[in-house]
Amino acid sequence: MDWKGLRQSTNVDDRRGVSGGPLAIGGGIVGVIFLLAKFLLGGGDASDLQQVFPQGQQQEMSVEQKAADDERANFVKTVLACTEDVWDKIFSDMGRQYSKPTLVLFRGSTQSGCGGASSQSGPFYCPADQDVYIDLSFAEELKNRFGASGDFPMAYVVAHEVGHHIQNLLGLAEKMQRLQGRVSETEYNKYSVKMELQADFYAGVWAFYDKKMHNVIHEKDIQEALEAASAIGDDAITKGRVSPDAFTHGTSAQRMYWFKKGYETGDLKQGNTFDASDL
Ligand SMILES: [Zn+2]
Repeated sequence: MDWKGLRQSTNVDDRRGVSGGPLAIGGGIVGVIFLLAKFLLGGGDASDLQQVFPQGQQQEMSVEQKAADDERANFVKTVLACTEDVWDKIFSDMGRQYSKPTLVLFRGSTQSGCGGASSQSGPFYCPADQDVYIDLSFAEELKNRFGASGDFPMAYVVAHEVGHHIQNLLGLAEKMQRLQGRVSETEYNKYSVKMELQADFYAGVWAFYDKKMHNVIHEKDIQEALEAASAIGDDAITKGRVSPDAFTHGTSAQRMYWFKKGYETGDLKQGNTFDASDL
């Protein structure tokens, strides 16, 4: 993806650390202040503080690591700006205004409107505060743990999380919330998978439009996205211990199918994963 020189989004809350000083791994200064305040007001306990200052987690980044981290941040900010351009257009075509999500960059752990977040939880979207949370170390994980190559897999991840934001704006997240507790866990899991696959579909729709608008996405990128979708499918993650009931994202084949469908059609109406009979 020829992303350099493109606009970077300013809808970013960068909590990765304090510039100029050692990078606080865990919470960032905002998280520290938030939790300290909570602690002092009597609302928290010592475990909250341990969460902010995990033992052995405080470390300085080398100059090279910091440069690599900043490069990743610039990349995801650029991709976010690209998603803003695309969804602005799609929403205005629907006669609506697109309200943009904020991207929270953190390292280690932070607080979200959906509870505490850590790098272990992976990138996620919180419907309550409409923020996308990403610990950039996930880019390394994509490479090292899932063997995803190139820069585009991270773009796919951003586009997927923005896809959840689109679902929220279109009222789907709310419908899902209403289902929770009213259907069995197995049934609810099925809906979760459909939600995830639709977010993959929306990521594909983004790529379809972005190719036309910015002309920086190449076939090689799409291939990388499909490989990443395949690598982070639930069946791939559980290493072959296939038990579809417990799946929350869909199998590798399903994820690739829906991303591709979005990318090839660019048509929101084709993304009804909820009606798809093969699910
Ligand atoms: Zn998701």
